Amino acid sequence: MLNTPPLSNLQTRDIESVLHPYTALHKLKSTGTLVIESGKGVYVYDTQGRGYIEGMSGLWCAGLGFGDEELIDAATEQLRSLPYYHLFGAKGTESAIELAEKLKEIAPVPISKVFFTSSGSEANDTQVKLAWYMNNAMGRPNKKKIISRIKAYHGVTIMAASLTGLPYNHIGWDLPVDRVLHTDCPHYYRFGKDGESEAEFVQRLVKSLRDLIEREGPNTIAAMIAEPVMGAGGVIVPPMTYYAAIQEVLDEHNIILIDDEVINGFGRTGNWWGCQSLGMTPKTISAAKQLTAAYSPLGAVMVPEDIYQAYVDHSAAIGTFGHGFTYGGHPLGCALGVKAIEIYQRRDIVGHVRMLSPVFEARMKALNDHPLVGETRYCGLVGGVELVADKKTRRSFDPKQAVGPQLAKILEGHGAILRAVGDTIAFCPPMVITEAELNELFDRFEKALADTEAWVSKEGLR
Ligand code: PMP
Repeated sequence: MLNTPPLSNLQTRDIESVLHPYTALHKLKSTGTLVIESGKGVYVYDTQGRGYIEGMSGLWCAGLGFGDEELIDAATEQLRSLPYYHLFGAKGTESAIELAEKLKEIAPVPISKVFFTSSGSEANDTQVKLAWYMNNAMGRPNKKKIISRIKAYHGVTIMAASLTGLPYNHIGWDLPVDRVLHTDCPHYYRFGKDGESEAEFVQRLVKSLRDLIEREGPNTIAAMIAEPVMGAGGVIVPPMTYYAAIQEVLDEHNIILIDDEVINGFGRTGNWWGCQSLGMTPKTISAAKQLTAAYSPLGAVMVPEDIYQAYVDHSAAIGTFGHGFTYGGHPLGCALGVKAIEIYQRRDIVGHVRMLSPVFEARMKALNDHPLVGETRYCGLVGGVELVADKKTRRSFDPKQAVGPQLAKILEGHGAILRAVGDTIAFCPPMVITEAELNELFDRFEKALADTEAWVSKEGLR
């Protein structure tokens, strides 16, 4: 293991009092925590004043970097005029109205109404409830199951975690709940069979989805949920023909497609929406994270007119639409959402992502020759580097060896932060990163990769 310096006072207080999400709690006392104090541009600074390139935009969300004065001004202005109000019981706020209008304007498919939440998990939970509510309204009370995918990530509330297809979100948590089905993960490198072409792989997944639907009964399935590029499951970019092919099957059986744009949305993949980059045509959309450039929590569910009309009809029969969060559509989040979208448009962030993506791709591709790298995957300015024990056979390291997390830790010593999702190192830099900063991030990553290779050899982990 690395030689870790003694814990500072703040680190000790942190470990004494904060329950850290997504953290190996049994190792926390020896690994310590990294306490971040400030941020500017693509850099964050710890309490010792050390700077790190934030190569993950925090958690795939701070797409405009840190300390953006325009966003800070918008937040301050909103807090001064109206720090809080809600949308319950037919109340409204100007910032929520403006943001809903903006989202309708930039949506990739026709959207009639926007429902605001505080997070991505709440947005996806809401999607499931809305699908159930819609089918009750339409007299289809049995059409309730939701299809998700192995390695999907849709959040951590009870239903969102059930949709998520990762073992550590299920094992020990009594999840997934009923009504959730997981189909195959469209990751050719990992799940393609020997000798199978990419086209045959897609056909196999389509057949498997069709079999699942027929086995369960099409009349019992309401929706499928999918992230265009799968993020926290390992930055998986499906084959380009995949979504069109599975959508044919869903359409045949009147199963709606919910597009989880929580990571992909707002320019990340080189288009406004990930569905545009991957050839997906969804019925409804979940958004969060870059919606406010992460300067405030906010999520959104975007629904078309026919679905909205079903809620109206049901509402007429039973009274009130009984769903809503205290902070859903918080004025601070909505004002920041309006400002973030205006900045994305005025500074042509999509154009900037497209301009940088060839550099990102070239630096990713160059890593493919490294003995620890099995595959690199990328789309726009999101990517992943999968580490393997054996390049030829694609054998993974034993997860207990925690090679990915070790690389991420070593990288901190080189002044950059990336996120290990298993043994895939995820890249999701602020979309405002410059070419020089992007190259610097990869230079630092390459140093950490070399150190990790030396550590793997020394420890005999292959
Ligand atoms: N969906 C996707 C695709 C995500 O990546 C995430 C968060 N990483 C979520 C949903 C959940 O969002 P939140 O953490 O805001 O609840």
